[in-house]
Amino acid sequence: MKKIPHKIFLSEEQIPSKWYNLRADMKNKPAPMLNPATLQPITLEEITPVFCEALAKQELDNDTRWVDIPESIMDMYRIYRPSPLIRAYNLEKALGTPAKIYFKYEGNNTSGSHKLNSAIAQAYYAKEQGLKSLTTETGAGQWGTALSEACAYFGLDLNVYMVKVSYEQKPYRKAVMQTFGANVIASPSNTTQIGQKILAADPNERGSLGCAISEAVEKAVTSDNCRYVLGSVLSQVLLHQSVIGLETEAAFNMIGEYPDIIVGCAGGGSNLGGLIAPFMRDKLTGKANPRIIAAEPASCPSLTRGKYAYDFCDTGMITPMAKMYTLGCEFKPSANHAGGLRYHGMSPILSQLYDDGFMEAIALEQTSVFEAAVMFAKCETILPAPESAHAIKGAVQEALKCKESGEAKTILFGLTGTGYFDMTAYTSYLEGQMNDYVPTDADLEVAFSKLPPVNV
Ligand SMILES: *Cc1c(COP(=O)(O)O)cnc(C)c1O
Repeated sequence: MKKIPHKIFLSEEQIPSKWYNLRADMKNKPAPMLNPATLQPITLEEITPVFCEALAKQELDNDTRWVDIPESIMDMYRIYRPSPLIRAYNLEKALGTPAKIYFKYEGNNTSGSHKLNSAIAQAYYAKEQGLKSLTTETGAGQWGTALSEACAYFGLDLNVYMVKVSYEQKPYRKAVMQTFGANVIASPSNTTQIGQKILAADPNERGSLGCAISEAVEKAVTSDNCRYVLGSVLSQVLLHQSVIGLETEAAFNMIGEYPDIIVGCAGGGSNLGGLIAPFMRDKLTGKANPRIIAAEPASCPSLTRGKYAYDFCDTGMITPMAKMYTLGCEFKPSANHAGGLRYHGMSPILSQLYDDGFMEAIALEQTSVFEAAVMFAKCETILPAPESAHAIKGAVQEALKCKESGEAKTILFGLTGTGYFDMTAYTSYLEGQMNDYVPTDADLEVAFSKLPPVNV
């Protein structure tokens, strides 16, 4: 039998020319976003002040199965896509597992993550509409970097509200964004009313994603020709990220394989939603039945311990409400090192699929995640992002189960990015300084008690 190569590369012509909208194949659609003022499903007119029009339409579209990817977006995709599907032969050997482990590697661009796939789309539609600038938030910095690249490419100004603790810990991330021309502001800041209010209550506040979102939204709605863009959670973002899954499907078709188990890390759910899109479609339509596993940090366990409820997407409670697995928009996760996974909620699409039993979820403690990251780095010579390492750990656990049972399952995981800006975290792990903080039920109850009353 012919040996499967280490890297399965598609040709440039095989980059998907359409995104796939998983919602079209869901029997139970994700619950509609609500206008917090009326508690009615939000209308196109109501969200176009926040999102640009094409993206607002994508956000509300539960039915169009395939969406053409505009040629200007394809042009930029061609710079760094298709991304490789890689067979982790060395990792398999080190684990002594009969399982076949594959990973889809999205770290081959300057943002160091999959985020660029949606940043390009969002900047393109903003430019098309004649907007002059965008605002956004960034936690760990990958999304801010990706959007800086995209805005530089399409000629848009960009204000990035960067969670203050990251702003201070990751000066080089900030410098990369500035290189692409972005204006980077530590959040909370005094450039918005929300920021001023938060700083008045606590001048030492180090910020959170929810708070940075509030600031970015406020800045967008109070500036001319400006819109807010978000790098995860939203259904439009999962749509754009479907390129990951579609390429993976094409690569598996080329080698005649199909995954039995798919593992992805889950922050707001965009890489996981993108990676699984065609495989979840096969599951929903009864064509195949892969196990799909979301790996989240034990310190921010929205799927495994959250409530499925309407909640705000931000701390300032100015965004529409989304029905999702949430820890409550006032939940502040402990200072774990996977910044991209520190969000209180989860994509409404994935939340619905999880609630309907189409997906499993696991919560992992960070020292065990870094242990897997270091092992993976040594075997496959890629330094993974801490976020991505959650997927590695999940895949390793499944591969070890295969070792016990002797089953040669095919495991796929999403390697969402690289960890070069996370060396403080690696050092903390290597020096034995890393803690595994897991919130108590009482901790969670505090934020649950502040969920909006629409749920009762
Ligand atoms: C942002 C990020 C994540 C988590 O975001 P999702 O929307 O859940 O995909 C995971 N990995 C990396 C490298 C990221 O930058």
